[in-house]
Amino acid sequence: MKTLQQNDGVGTTTLKPLFGTSPDDLKLLVQTLGQSPYRATQLAEALYRHRLPSLDDITTFPIALRETLQAAYTVGLPEIVQSARSIDGTERYLIRMADGETVETVWMPDGDGGERGDGSEAAEEERNEPDLIAAEQGSPADQPLRYDSRPNPRPDTRNRGSLAANGYRRATICISSQVGCAVNCQFCLTAKLGIRRNLTAGEIAGQVAVALNRNNVKLGQDRINLVFMGMGEPFLNYDAFMDAVRLLRFMGIPESRMTVSTSGIEPSIRRFAQEPIRPKLALSLNASNDAVRESIMPITRKWNIQALLDAVNSIPLGKREYVTFEYVLLGGINDQPQHVQEVLDLLAGLKAKVNLIVWNPGPGIPYHQPSPEDVDRFHKSLIAGGIPTFIRRPRGRDIYAACGQLKRTVDETPVPAPAGPGALVQLSLAANPPA
Ligand code: SAH
Ligand code: SF4
Repeated sequence: MKTLQQNDGVGTTTLKPLFGTSPDDLKLLVQTLGQSPYRATQLAEALYRHRLPSLDDITTFPIALRETLQAAYTVGLPEIVQSARSIDGTERYLIRMADGETVETVWMPDGDGGERGDGSEAAEEERNEPDLIAAEQGSPADQPLRYDSRPNPRPDTRNRGSLAANGYRRATICISSQVGCAVNCQFCLTAKLGIRRNLTAGEIAGQVAVALNRNNVKLGQDRINLVFMGMGEPFLNYDAFMDAVRLLRFMGIPESRMTVSTSGIEPSIRRFAQEPIRPKLALSLNASNDAVRESIMPITRKWNIQALLDAVNSIPLGKREYVTFEYVLLGGINDQPQHVQEVLDLLAGLKAKVNLIVWNPGPGIPYHQPSPEDVDRFHKSLIAGGIPTFIRRPRGRDIYAACGQLKRTVDETPVPAPAGPGALVQLSLAANPPA
C-alpha cells in the first residue's frame, strides 16, 4: 500500500492559475497590471516554452513584478502524485489538479504504433522503422514487446534531447480530457467512474507539461506525439479540448502529431470538421452494426453508425490523411468473420484505416479477450478487403495503463483522522492488475 499526502480540497489555494491562459489573454492581463506588452511575451514563453513550474523561476522578470503576480496568481501546473512503471517502459501518472481531483496520464516511450497509416508525421517515421513492425508481426498481440535489444539507427546523440540519449526515437503521451466519463461504454473501466467534471484547457495541456518536465524532454529535439485517448470523452468537453490543442501547439507540438479519439459525438465531429487547425481524428467504431454497437456502446442509440460516418465524411482530409477507426476486439462479440464483412461494407469508399485493439480486461467487466487466431483472421481479412489495418501494441497492461484501463487506479479510502487542511487520504494501488 502506498500513501501520499493529498490536498482534500479544504484550504485549497485561492490564487488563480496562469497555465491555461491563452497568450492573447496574457497580453490583457499584463496590460491591466500596467506592464509593457513584452512582459506578456516573456510570461507566455516562461509558461509554455520553458514550462517553468513557479513564478519564482521567471528570472526575466524583476522581483517586484514577480511579487505583484504572486499576490493573485500561481503557475498552477497539475502535479504528478503517483507513478507506476511497466516492464515495457510505459509509465502511468496519477495527476492531481488544484481541487484535489485526479486523472491518469500515460507516457509511452516509442509510442504504441497507433499513428501508423494515418498520414501523420509520426506515421511516416514508423514506416521507415521496419524493426518495430517486424517485432510486432512476430509477437502475439497480447505479449509485451522487448525494447532493449533494438538497434538504434542513430547512435549519434549530439544535440538531441533526453529521449534520443536514452535510445528512444519518440514518445507518445496519452492525455485525459475529463475526470471520469459519462459515455458508459460497457467494456471500459473509465466508465465505471461516471463523470465527475470536465478538465480545463490548462489542466489538459498541463498533463503534457508535467510529463515532459519529468522526462526532461526538449521539444524541437525530441519527437513527441499526443493522443487524446485517456480518461473521458474529449468531444463532450469540446471547447476546453480545442483550447488545449492551441496551447499545446504554442508549446511546440504541431497538430499533425496529435490524434483525438471520440466515441462518436456527432455534433462535435461536425464542429471539428470546420476547424482550420485540428488534430487527426480517430473514431471508436468498435462494432460492425448498430445492434452490436448499442449493446456495448449505449450512446449508439443517440447517434447511429451511419450518422457518425456521415459526420466523418464532412471532414476535409489532407492529401495523405486517413481517418482512423478504432475497433476493440471483444471475444465472441464483434470479432467473427461476419463482422469483418460488415466493417468492410461500412468503410468502403472512405479514406479509412483501422486500428485493432485487443480488449484489455478490468475487474468487473464481463467480456473475454479474443483468441489470437480470431485477431489474426480479423486483421488479415480487413487487409485483404483493402483497408490498411494495424494491431495496436498493448502498452503498460501490467500497470493498468493500457487503453480503457484508466480509472484513477487508486482506491480512495479516507483514513479515520481529523478532517481539515492537510488531512491524509490513503491511496492504494489497485490489487492484482492483470498479468
Ligand atoms: N473516450 C474516447 C477516448 C478514450 S478511450 C473514446 O472512447 O474514443 C480510447 C480508446 O480505448 C477507444 O477506442 C476505446 O474504445 C478504447 N477502449 C476502451 N476500453 C478499452 C478496453 N478495456 N480495452 C481496449 N480498448 C479499450
Ligand atoms: Fe468514455 Fe471512451 Fe471509456 Fe467510452 S471508451 S466510457 S467514451 S473513455
